[in-house]
Amino acid sequence: MNYEALKDEVIAYSKKIGIDKIGFTSGDPFIEMKNRLIRQEELGYQSGFEHKNIEERTHPELIFDEPRSIIAIALAYPSKMKDAPRGERGARRGIFCKASWGVDYHVLVREKLEQLASFIDSKADHARFKLMVDTGELVDRAVAERAGIGWSGKNCSIITPEFGSYVYLGEMITNLPFAPDEPMQDQCGECTKCLDACPTGALVQPGQLDAQRCIAFLTQTKGVLPDEFRDKIGNRLYGCDTCQTICPKNKGVDFHLNPDMEPDPQIAKPLLQPLLDISNREFKEKYGEVSGSWRGKKPIQRNAILALGHFKERSAVSDLIKVLNEDVRPEIRGTAAWSLGKIGGEQAKEALIRAQARESDSLVLEEIDKGLQLLE
Ligand code: SF4
Ligand code: SF4
Repeated sequence: MNYEALKDEVIAYSKKIGIDKIGFTSGDPFIEMKNRLIRQEELGYQSGFEHKNIEERTHPELIFDEPRSIIAIALAYPSKMKDAPRGERGARRGIFCKASWGVDYHVLVREKLEQLASFIDSKADHARFKLMVDTGELVDRAVAERAGIGWSGKNCSIITPEFGSYVYLGEMITNLPFAPDEPMQDQCGECTKCLDACPTGALVQPGQLDAQRCIAFLTQTKGVLPDEFRDKIGNRLYGCDTCQTICPKNKGVDFHLNPDMEPDPQIAKPLLQPLLDISNREFKEKYGEVSGSWRGKKPIQRNAILALGHFKERSAVSDLIKVLNEDVRPEIRGTAAWSLGKIGGEQAKEALIRAQARESDSLVLEEIDKGLQLLE
């Protein structure tokens, strides 16, 4: 089999089916990444959403029989929303990060990988593949970096010269021995804009992220948000784009290459107040297709409540009082108490005092205390 010719065919086919960038690397272990992951674990910097087994994350041979190469792909996604609605007093809006616009990228990238695998399968005998997007064992960014898709920026994103860091990544391990591509030179240079702009200091040093401080991770947690991050989250409902939008390599980068990636402005930038009492069914119908809904409605609702507090949105007081009085989830009642304290006013104060007399949950009582302190 002429793998050089097949590689050319695969590259040509990938362009035809809308894969924006493709790279190849060996199936060798990712030793540098392994050491980094061990260090991250020691420091407690991991999010907890990752695949747990570091050996499997960095040794393709443990998860695939005879991995001879890995094919990495990237799909460019839009960075600007057409007709973005503006939030205003009385009708505040939250925001989903760009990577959660349009159809869930896990689905889109997997479809492309499947198409690519079928194509290769039709050309080579006994070809085997293992496809991965985000939730697989391997670290997508490490594969993309080694396959020459882009360099690993100080903001921990893979940055491509063509599409900036606005790319979805995925890869497949195969038993076919494609020749590897060259990794790309780091092009961050002296720039430190992402580190300077990060609102929580989550980028502890160039290329090192403390996920526990990263808003992108924090927006996905289900408990009450730790106090120190409540004023930093702003109106983000899911994810955080700050270290990408600030990056000079993303300046003017905005590709609209796949209609499935186009955001519905009412979903990507939704009104906050209707989220407070949205039913499970309604949430699934409206947000089920976007990747930002993967943790269910609770984190999104909690973040919507914090966003209303951030805006000091007076028109939301009655709705927040209803949440404080009626929601069955202590984390949600507690967050409402805190936001009522942020917004302030007599109505909020009275509601907090009444709730204090009635409430029995210690977490909620603690948040009511904080709310009342904010009022003082
Ligand atoms: Fe900081 Fe946001 Fe980037 Fe996380 S995503 S490192 S919080 S700027
Ligand atoms: Fe690199 Fe600057 Fe972009 Fe950070 S902001 S990733 S340092 S180019």
